[in-house]
Amino acid sequence: MSNMTKSLSILILFTFHNVLNGLPVSNDMLDNVNWEDNNILFDNSIDGEDNINISHLGPEAFGSPKNESGEAVAEWTEDSLMNPEEMGSYAEGDILVPRPLTRNGVRDQTSMWPNGIIPYVIEGYFNQQQRDMIRKAIADYHRLTCLRFVPYSGQKDYLTIQSARTGCWSSVGRLGGRQEVNLQIPGCVSKKGTVLHELLHAVGFMHEQSRPERDDFVKVVYSNIKPGSETNFRKADRANTNDFGVSYDYNSVMHYSEYAFSKNSKKTIEPKVTGVTLGQREGLSRGDVRKVNNMYNCKKEEPQNGWIGGVWSAIFGNQ
Ligand SMILES: [Zn+2]
Repeated sequence: MSNMTKSLSILILFTFHNVLNGLPVSNDMLDNVNWEDNNILFDNSIDGEDNINISHLGPEAFGSPKNESGEAVAEWTEDSLMNPEEMGSYAEGDILVPRPLTRNGVRDQTSMWPNGIIPYVIEGYFNQQQRDMIRKAIADYHRLTCLRFVPYSGQKDYLTIQSARTGCWSSVGRLGGRQEVNLQIPGCVSKKGTVLHELLHAVGFMHEQSRPERDDFVKVVYSNIKPGSETNFRKADRANTNDFGVSYDYNSVMHYSEYAFSKNSKKTIEPKVTGVTLGQREGLSRGDVRKVNNMYNCKKEEPQNGWIGGVWSAIFGNQ
C-alpha cells in the first residue's frame, strides 16, 4: 500500500470510529491529535471489564455539595499545610457521588469511560488563568496517557467542570449522564496537581493512601486526626482493588499530604522511609501515568523528557 493510500485509509477509519462513538470529527480534534495517537485509540478497547468498585468509601460518599466545605476551602492559601482537596467534609475529603443516583440510593460500582474518551465542558466562572490551568492539566493527560478529553457536543455521559463554593470534589469513575467535577475558585485551581487529582477521581482512581497495603509504607497517626475525620483514612479491601501493576507510590498526585485532616498542625501520615514528600500537586507521577495507561489498556510509551522525566527526577529522584 502506498503511503498516501495508507494515510487515506487511516483517515477514513478514524472518521468512522468517531462517527460510531457519536463524536464530532472537528478540525479542533484532528489538530490536536497526531497520527500516532489515532493508532493508540484503536488499541484502546476495554472489553467489558469496566466496573470500578467504590464500596470502601461507604455511605459518606453519597450526598449533596456542602457549603461548609466551601467555607473551609475559601480559607486555603498556598502556605497552608494541607491541600485544598483535603479540607472538604466529603468522603475522604473530596469524593462525592451526588444524590439521587439510583432508586435504591447507594450502589457500589461505577464505570470506566469507553475507549478512554471523556466528553467535558467547562461551565464554572473561571478567569483566563484558571481556565488555562484546567487546560494544562488536560494537556498532560493527552501527552502522557491515551485518555482523550473531548469537547462536549451532546454525548450521553460527560463531565461538567464547575466552580461552586462547595470545595474541590469529584465522583470516582463514570456515573452515567451529566457528572460534575467541582473546582472552587481560586483554591482548587491554584495548582495544576489539584485539577489533575480531581480529574483522576473522575477517570476512576481512589486515593493512594487508601490502598490495602498502605500500612507497610506509611504510618497513620490517629492521635493527630480531627475527631470525626478518622473514616477518611480507611483502607480499601484487597479483593475490590486493582493496583494495575504499580507499587505504592509516595509521589502520586492522589496521595494525601502529611497534614491531611490534622487537628493540631502535626502530621497525620508519616512515610516509613526517609527522603520522600507526600501530597505533591505539581504533576502526575510516573506511577500515576502507568496506572492510567494500564487501567485503560494503553500501549503508549513513557516519555523520557518533560516534567515527568526531567524536573520530576530532579526533585524526587529517578523513581
Ligand atoms: Zn481526592
